[in-house]
Amino acid sequence: PAFNSTKTPKKGGPPLPTSSSSISSSKHALLQEQRSELPIAKGKDALIHEFREHDVTVLLGETGSGKTTQVPQYLLESGLARNGMIAVTQPRKVAATSLAGRVAAEQNVALGSSVGYSVRFDERFSSQTRIKYMTDGMIVRELMSDPSLSKYSIIIVDEAHERSLRTDILIANLKTIQQRRNKSQDAKGKGKDTSNPLKIIIMSATLDAEKFGRFFTGSKILYVQGRQHPVKIYHSSQGQVDYVDSAMRTFFQIHTDYPPGDVLIFLPGQEDIESLEKTIQIYANQLPHDRMSVLICPMYAAQAAGQNSKVFLATPPNTRKCILATNIAETSITIPGVKYVIDTGKCKEKRYLARNTGGGFDTLLTRDITQSSAMQRAGRAGREGAGHCFRLYTEDAFKAMPLSAEPEIMRCSLSSSLLQLKCIGQDLETLELMDQPAEESMKSSLIVLYLLGALNLQKEITALGRQMAAFPLEPIYARAIIASKEYGCTQEVLDIVSILSASSKLFIESSEQREAVSEARKKFRHVCGDHLTILNVVKAYQEIAYSEAKGSRKEWCRRHFLNERALLEASDIRDQLRQTCQRLGIDHSVSCGDKDDPVTFSLGHGLVMNIALLQPDGTYKQTIGQSIVKIHPSSVLCDKKIPAIIYDELVYTNQIYARGVSRIPKSFIVTLGALKQQR
Ligand code: ADP
Ligand code: MG
Repeated sequence: PAFNSTKTPKKGGPPLPTSSSSISSSKHALLQEQRSELPIAKGKDALIHEFREHDVTVLLGETGSGKTTQVPQYLLESGLARNGMIAVTQPRKVAATSLAGRVAAEQNVALGSSVGYSVRFDERFSSQTRIKYMTDGMIVRELMSDPSLSKYSIIIVDEAHERSLRTDILIANLKTIQQRRNKSQDAKGKGKDTSNPLKIIIMSATLDAEKFGRFFTGSKILYVQGRQHPVKIYHSSQGQVDYVDSAMRTFFQIHTDYPPGDVLIFLPGQEDIESLEKTIQIYANQLPHDRMSVLICPMYAAQAAGQNSKVFLATPPNTRKCILATNIAETSITIPGVKYVIDTGKCKEKRYLARNTGGGFDTLLTRDITQSSAMQRAGRAGREGAGHCFRLYTEDAFKAMPLSAEPEIMRCSLSSSLLQLKCIGQDLETLELMDQPAEESMKSSLIVLYLLGALNLQKEITALGRQMAAFPLEPIYARAIIASKEYGCTQEVLDIVSILSASSKLFIESSEQREAVSEARKKFRHVCGDHLTILNVVKAYQEIAYSEAKGSRKEWCRRHFLNERALLEASDIRDQLRQTCQRLGIDHSVSCGDKDDPVTFSLGHGLVMNIALLQPDGTYKQTIGQSIVKIHPSSVLCDKKIPAIIYDELVYTNQIYARGVSRIPKSFIVTLGALKQQR
C-alpha cells in the first residue's frame, strides 16, 4: 500500500545489534540490571513514600515503564503489604499469567511460590504467595466467599483505562470495602492495631485520571516519567479493503527497505493472526538467502500459559521478529525490540444487543479502534529508539474515530455479574458505579436470570441461583449442569460444557480443505446436533487417550482436523467443574449411557432463551426476542429442517446465525413453559 509521508525513510541503517546473551553474568543479575534500568526505577523511593501516605493512589505512566512488574515488588520489598497479599488485577488472562512468570523470574522464585497467578480454570499460587496476578473476573468471584477481600492488604487495579465490566464492579466494591476496613483502624488510632486496612492503587497508561480521582475522594494522582522516542506515523493514502493482505505487503515492504528492528502488527483476532502467519511464512520461505530471515511470533488470548514466551526472547542474529498480536500488546504486555508498528485499525469488541423481551445477545464484532488505541499502538514503536508506525487507514479515518471506548458495562451482557452481585446481597442498580449500565440491558439480564430460575419475581436470588453462581461459568451452562442431575447425565453435560468453555475452538476450519474436513469428521456427526457431536468427539478422544501413546493422539487430532489444545484444556476445566459439582452434592460420574434426550433436555434448561422454531420459509424464529435466525454453516444441522432448535449463541455477520445447534422436541418446550408458570 502507498503511504502519505512527508519524508521518505532512508535505506540502509545501523549495524546489527550484537546479541546480549553472550554477557557472562548470571541470568538473575541480568534481570536485576534490566529492572534498575526501567524508567520507574528512578522514582522508586518517592513512589513508596506516596503509597505509604495515601489509601488510594492513581498511577499513570507510559506503557513499558515498569508499572505492572515493579510496583508490586516495591510494595513487597518495602514491607507495605503487612501480612496480607498484594493482588494485581488484569482484564486479560494472558497478561496475568505472563506477567506473573516474569515477576517470579525477577524475584528468583518458582512461579506459584511467593509470586503466583489466578485466572479462570488455571491457578498457580500457594500459602506462601505474596504477589498474586489475577484477572478482574477472579477477584470479583472471590467477593462471594470473602466480601471484604480480607486476604489482600493491597489491591492494584491495573489497566483501569480499559474499563472492563469486572474492573468497574471491582472498583465500586473496593470503595465500600476500604471505607469498612479502614474505619476500624482510625478508631484505634495509629498504634499496634490488629485491623486489616486496605490500600488501593489504580494503574494505567492512558487514563482519565481525574475521573478516578473524583470517584475516590482524597486519592493522590502520580505520574511516572516514561521514555518515549519519536515515532513517525504514515497513513495509507486510501482505505484498505483487505487489511490482512495489506498488512502482509506492508510487512515485506519494511523487511526489504528498512533497517533491522522488529515489527509488531496489530490485528483484531486469532483467525486473522493465523491466516497472516501462514501467508507471511510462505513468502518468507521464498526470500533470497542473503536476506534477514523472519521469525513470526503470534500473541493472542487463547494461547496457553507460557506458549507465547518466545516473543520475549532476544531476536536471533540476522533475523527480524514479526509479532502478530491482538490489542493485548497495546498496553498490557510490552515486547522489547519493536521498531515498526503496523496498525490495521481494527479490533474485536463485545457488544450486547439487548432486547426488552429478554432475547438479547452478545456479539463479537470486528470494528474500528479508537484514537486512544491508535496512539497507544503507534507508541509501541518508540520505546527503545525512534520508530515508525504504518497505519493501514487514512488520516481522515483516524480523525473520524471516537476518542476512547465506551466502558464495557454499557455494552455487555450483565447477567453473569448481576447474579454474582445478588449472591453478596448487592445489585447493579444500587451499587455506586463509575458509569451506570443502560436500563434496557439491566432489564434484559433480569429477564434472563428469571427465566433460568435464578431470580424470583421479586428479583431475589433463589436457591437455584446460588447454586448457579457457584460455577465459574455463564449462568446458562451452570443451569444445564444443575439440570443434568435430574436427568442423570452429569458426566455427558460436563464433557460438553467443558469443551464450550475452552478458549480454543475444538473444530479446525479450513476453507481450502472443506471436503476433506467434512469427510474426516463424518463419523462424529450426530443427528441431534452439535452438542452431541462434540460429545462423540470427546468420547472418541478419551478412548484414544487411554489406549495409545501421546504422539498418536496428536496425530489422531490432526487427521480429524481437531484442535488437541481444546481437548486438553477442556479436561482441566472438567476437573474444576467436577469439584464444584462435588461441593453442591451433584454426582459428576452419573451417566445416561447412549441416551440422547437427557443431554439435550439438560442443555435446554440452560438455553431456555435460545430456542427458535422453524418457519414456513425455512428460517427460524426465536421464541423469545422474535428475531429471525439461520443455522450457522458450521453446524451439523445446517441444511436440515428441524421443527425446534436450541443454540449456544447468535453470531451476527450480514445476518443473524445460530451457532452450536441441537434439535429439541416441541413438547419439551411446552414443559419448560409449564415449569416457568409453577414458579
Ligand atoms: P508497564 O506496566 O508500565 O507497561 P511492565 O512492568 O509491564 O510495564 O514492563 C516492564 C518491562 O518488563 C518491559 O520492558 C517488558 O518488556 C518486560 N516484561 C514484561 N513481561 C515480560 C515477560 N513475560 N518476559 C520478558 N520481559 C517482560
Ligand atoms: Mg502494565
